Amino acid sequence: MRKKNNSSFGLLFVLVLFIAGSLFVYFSSIFERNAPLVTMETNGYWNLKKPLALKISDASGIKSYKIKLKSSKETTTLEYEQLITPEKELVLEVKPPRSAYAMKDKSIEIIVEAVDVSKWNMLAGNSVRKIFKLQIDKKRPQLSIVSNSYKISRGGSAIVVFKLDDANIDEFYIQGNHKKKFIPQPFYKDGYYISLLAWPVIDEGFKATIIAKDLAGNVSKAYIPLYLKQKNYRVSKIKLSDKFLKGKIADLAEEFVETQGVEGSLEQFKIINEDVRAKNEALIHELTSKVKEDKRDDFKMNKMYPLKNAQVVASFGDHRKYYYDGEKISESYHLGLDLASNAMASIRPQNGGEVIFSDYNGLYGNMPLIHHGLGLYTLYGHCSSIKVSTGDETTIREVIANTGKSGYAMGDHLHFGVLVQGIEVRPQEWMDKQWIKLNIHNVIKDAKKIINRN
Ligand SMILES: [Zn+2]
Repeated sequence: MRKKNNSSFGLLFVLVLFIAGSLFVYFSSIFERNAPLVTMETNGYWNLKKPLALKISDASGIKSYKIKLKSSKETTTLEYEQLITPEKELVLEVKPPRSAYAMKDKSIEIIVEAVDVSKWNMLAGNSVRKIFKLQIDKKRPQLSIVSNSYKISRGGSAIVVFKLDDANIDEFYIQGNHKKKFIPQPFYKDGYYISLLAWPVIDEGFKATIIAKDLAGNVSKAYIPLYLKQKNYRVSKIKLSDKFLKGKIADLAEEFVETQGVEGSLEQFKIINEDVRAKNEALIHELTSKVKEDKRDDFKMNKMYPLKNAQVVASFGDHRKYYYDGEKISESYHLGLDLASNAMASIRPQNGGEVIFSDYNGLYGNMPLIHHGLGLYTLYGHCSSIKVSTGDETTIREVIANTGKSGYAMGDHLHFGVLVQGIEVRPQEWMDKQWIKLNIHNVIKDAKKIINRN
């Protein structure tokens, strides 16, 4: 009886040991059963120049890995490593082989093999073999300027037509000053593009470069050779009167959220001239930055003159510095041309377009905005009434609004603004028939001649 008891105890003991052992193997990280994870940062294209960004990770640690490139002719090992200290995550920058320049393949395979340190699989560990198929594109986008305006003035506009050819184009734009990217629009025939350019009035210099990138990371750049014409803009010292501060400014202060609870006139003025203005202009810039994507066959503009028999009462680009009791309070730029004729005079633009905004906009008062195409917009500020609605297509010389003094305006006048892709430009250029002919129409005519020959 005792013997029998002992043997059954022994059996139970072995069984418990076996289950415990199995559970240990099953749950222990030493016997982890997941193969390493391999990922690559790729859109499926490679120029055989940029290193490949690979990541290999494994919960138990990576023991070894091998990265191979398989072309139609051969398989080359790019990297192979046995790790002395296993790593849980490897971030690799894999360079192409030296023979890459001679490779003619349109596509290749990157084969990644990795083994972890797990004791699973009879101590061999878990292994993975992952294949990435990549399209090869070693050619940079073909970029050439067809024609461009000969010059650009500070605060002014210009135009460029260029040709772009690449099978795998990713993005292209014209890099202007600061972070400004002008968006070109398809023009006339396939592979050609057109864009207006603008030199911001507050910048001393200007540079525009067409940049094209393809999906494989190849980049081409073409500098637009523009003759830069400096222009001096007026700096005016304006004395703030009590009449103005207690009148117009007090009125406006009641209206804006930004000036609620602000008591001092000078403080109110500063907030209105800086914060409210910045907000109003941000809306204008956002609305006028858009460009259509459809193909343009032409771009013809009549000289702009929205107000008949008008006097210019303030010019574009004035740098206004405001003083009170000899102390500078605030400053701003006047980014339009002020025109005045009779009170509530009819505003009739000489070019049709799409009304993209027709509402009240703070300092600008009642303000319709019209898009004439190619990212060229006109703005009409301080109107007493607006006759058009957002989405309307206006015709040439249609009355769109009446002048007034809504917003930040003393007397009845029109604040006439012209914008190129979100940048205010000199309205005087677009009000000059000869300027438009030389700097816009002729450039387009020349471009078409060249395109037709090709
Ligand atoms: Zn104005």
